[in-house]
Amino acid sequence: MVHLTIHRGAHVGQRSFRRRAVLSLCAAGACMLASLAPGPARAQDKGTLNPQPLPPLAHPDDPNTLAKELFGRATTPAAMPPRAIGFYSKGCLAGGVALPINGPTWQVMRLSRNRNWGHPSLVEFLERLANQAPRTGWRGLLLGDMSQPRGGPMLAGHASHQIGLDADIWLTPMPDRELTREEREEMMATMIVAESRKDVDPKAWTPAHVALIKAAAQDPVVMRIFVNAAIKKALCRDAGSSDRAWLHKVQPWFGHDWHFHIRLQCPPGETGCEGQAPRPADEGCRAKEFDHWFDSAAPPPKPDAKPDAKPTPGRPGPRMSALPPACRQVLRAP
Ligand SMILES: [Zn+2]
Repeated sequence: MVHLTIHRGAHVGQRSFRRRAVLSLCAAGACMLASLAPGPARAQDKGTLNPQPLPPLAHPDDPNTLAKELFGRATTPAAMPPRAIGFYSKGCLAGGVALPINGPTWQVMRLSRNRNWGHPSLVEFLERLANQAPRTGWRGLLLGDMSQPRGGPMLAGHASHQIGLDADIWLTPMPDRELTREEREEMMATMIVAESRKDVDPKAWTPAHVALIKAAAQDPVVMRIFVNAAIKKALCRDAGSSDRAWLHKVQPWFGHDWHFHIRLQCPPGETGCEGQAPRPADEGCRAKEFDHWFDSAAPPPKPDAKPDAKPTPGRPGPRMSALPPACRQVLRAP
């Protein structure tokens, strides 16, 4: 539960001003939680070997139905040409494809979540990165959430990851054996951020972490990478003195202390995909760019602070009528 709050917080407000996002997060209680140095046991959710199907909805065609209730029940992709529709935190996915749960240099975790779906460009990118990983000193990737089969809002866990262009990758390398189903539900990632929350844990952080994130950031289809501010600080310090341009794609954010989040650009020619402005070209490595993330004395929330749509308790997320109309076709498709 604690993780859900933090991780949800980690994905809100990316299109709004940071201050507003901070206020929103504080309103959700995540400011405080994020500064409490959650240990590995509290940092992430376990899955189950026996996921239960959800009961059918009484009024699935009602435009007031919460989109997460519909997309959270879609267990197969929409048989349509691939399209990322809408924005990362308000949209859906046509023609989603699954990343196979095992590859030579990757394994998908938390299979019960059925979130190893994405736009073909995301699956291609992940296979490309996994293939490159051993050359960076990283045995292989452990994949966290991508999207649901038809994308869309989720019943729990993220505000973004809706259009098949976001993926979470564990900051724990793949073991040199195939994990069992049970291990994939129960295994915990390594916490990378130190207890102080102001730097990485030197016992956990390695040159291969830097090399892997660099390889991801240098792929031209990657638009942004979200990591904890302590991890961005460590990347800036450990990236070497040349070939640092990739650092500009790395965005400090809440959470993201045991995984990093990759966001791809809209696929070329997909006009229904609403992109996001690229980060400034500057590498973003000055102290002032981290210090405010470490400041625990964040201002209290204003009573009228309006958080972006996010699936927190009491904040139900968008209704179907708020998503792009094409998302209704995505739900109806075979
Ligand atoms: Zn994520």
